Amino acid sequence: MSTGIVYAPALAHEKIGHPECNARISHILPFLEKAGVLADLVNVAAVPATAVQLEQVHNKALVNHVQRVSHSGGGLLDYGDTYATAESYELARLAAGAGMTAVDAIMRGEIQNAFALVRPPGHHAEQDRVSGFCLFNNVAVAARYAQREHGVQRVLIVDFDVHHGNGTQDIFYRDDSVLFVSVHLFVPRLFYPGTGSKREMGFAGGQGYTLNVPLMPYVGDAGYGRIFQELIRPKAAAFQPDIILVSAGFDAHWRDPLAMAGLSLTGYAQMGQALAQLADELCDGRILFILEGGYEIDVLSHGILNLFYTLLGQDNIIDPYGPMPQEEPDISSLLDELKQSHLIY
Ligand SMILES: [Zn+2]
Repeated sequence: MSTGIVYAPALAHEKIGHPECNARISHILPFLEKAGVLADLVNVAAVPATAVQLEQVHNKALVNHVQRVSHSGGGLLDYGDTYATAESYELARLAAGAGMTAVDAIMRGEIQNAFALVRPPGHHAEQDRVSGFCLFNNVAVAARYAQREHGVQRVLIVDFDVHHGNGTQDIFYRDDSVLFVSVHLFVPRLFYPGTGSKREMGFAGGQGYTLNVPLMPYVGDAGYGRIFQELIRPKAAAFQPDIILVSAGFDAHWRDPLAMAGLSLTGYAQMGQALAQLADELCDGRILFILEGGYEIDVLSHGILNLFYTLLGQDNIIDPYGPMPQEEPDISSLLDELKQSHLIY
């Protein structure tokens, strides 16, 4: 079985001086080629999501708002720093469609797994609100599409971007067919977006189908390894997903300029390996990674490369920066609390 790459870099979605810039992935294909993995990947061409497909997870007003601002020449979409250019509406539809086309190829058995390298990112976009550089929620659109078009019943979404996936949580908060797990830095009032506390666990029928792992600063490879083994693995095994989608942000690396987390490239690669293995055990290897954040460009490139090694079944890990140069905190008490409230034994 083979590994797909979907590439939708949104080169014309660009604002001078903004960290979410096209240089993040504009040079990734030559980088992957030089590393010798590009030739092994199946190119999956992205098709833009239609407004109707976006409206499976967003309300019409949001979709219209992005279209209106973009088609009037661009500008800020919110009171923060989420922007659109004249081309952003089409480019954001392409980013959302990239996940859908990857889902098609995986569900038809043409490829086993894939990584969608897309911009703009998606996981902060809520049902009715753009936010945090995100226009449309790419991973949520892909999850709903898998359910509607391919008869998928249960989708596991794992979000390891350093920021809480508030948009994805909002969209699936009452839903027991999507298990949403977010591991993120949590320093309310200081660190964006401030949501994702351990008490946010879903609502009504979705109670227990949102698992937030809110971290103190500088949790690193050891902590993330424990979170996977002690929380995510048992929670996912009980849920029995038909496919795993991953909101893959690389801003939890210790060198990232926007955050204060402690993962290394090796830790990232090990998490990717653990997720791919989980997909093998639970859902015939069906796993799709969709790019979210990651603002240290060389770290991002290497993180993407290592994930492709993993998806191709190779155990190479390239880590030029090594581990975080400081001790990481012990997270035992957080893990104990979460095991109790989520009935994980
Ligand atoms: Zn992020």
